Amino acid sequence: MAVGVALFRFHPGVREIVRPGKSARLADGRLGWAVDRRAAVKDVVESLGVPHTEVGRILVAGAGGPGGPGGPSGTDGTDVDFSHIVAEGQELDVYAVVPPLDVTRPSLLRPEPLCGEGEVRFLVDATCGKLARLLRLVGQDAAYDRAWDDEAVAELAAGEGRIVLSMDRALLKRSQVAFGRLVRAHDPQEQLAEVLRHFGVRGPFAAFSRCLECNEPLAPVEKAAVLHRLQPLTKKYFDTFYRCPSCDRIYWPGSHHDRMREWLAQAGLE
Ligand SMILES: [Zn+2]
Repeated sequence: MAVGVALFRFHPGVREIVRPGKSARLADGRLGWAVDRRAAVKDVVESLGVPHTEVGRILVAGAGGPGGPGGPSGTDGTDVDFSHIVAEGQELDVYAVVPPLDVTRPSLLRPEPLCGEGEVRFLVDATCGKLARLLRLVGQDAAYDRAWDDEAVAELAAGEGRIVLSMDRALLKRSQVAFGRLVRAHDPQEQLAEVLRHFGVRGPFAAFSRCLECNEPLAPVEKAAVLHRLQPLTKKYFDTFYRCPSCDRIYWPGSHHDRMREWLAQAGLE
């Protein structure tokens, strides 16, 4: 028996990451998905390569739409959430998240906000570890441990309400991951700009507020207390120091800090 199809149109932002597999690609840029099982739109979209974290809006038109059998057709479609069951004859428009994505507000696709305002926190997986250091450099809370596997990352993200940043689609498809970003850029600095823009995180950034190695908040420390640990030139030219209470590393505003500030300004982020 022949199975009918549902037609998917992926819009810019998600179109580029579609991996249709065996699905037929139609001439006008739509994908036909053979309706061979009862599946929620989240599962179908993810089977076509797009993690749910990347989707900002889904519109459905056609037979068996949200209005019931023979529901809205010939219209621009109706907004549905991820649990919508895909049926034969439906036309589905899948749109990317439009930045900035505000994780503190509920939406149809993400009815539970991740956190309150001013509490945005990240979790970086091993596919973009350098990004974790850069986020910490601009004062963002970015948990990272290269030893964590996908399950550990997903559990921690759910437990602590963190945004998952990764280049690993399989990780972002996990249902425990509510908010995340499939990082597109490859250069760590570009990744930082991408993530800050995507989640609407803007300066002024609190530099020297986190340890680059362990993500712990830094505490100011008297120069006299760390004098014996400083190189001669550092001793001579710097007077402001911070210490990590966890690993005991000492930080001071050096030249890499100035370069970062310049770059953030150029990128329009601060
Ligand atoms: Zn530390």
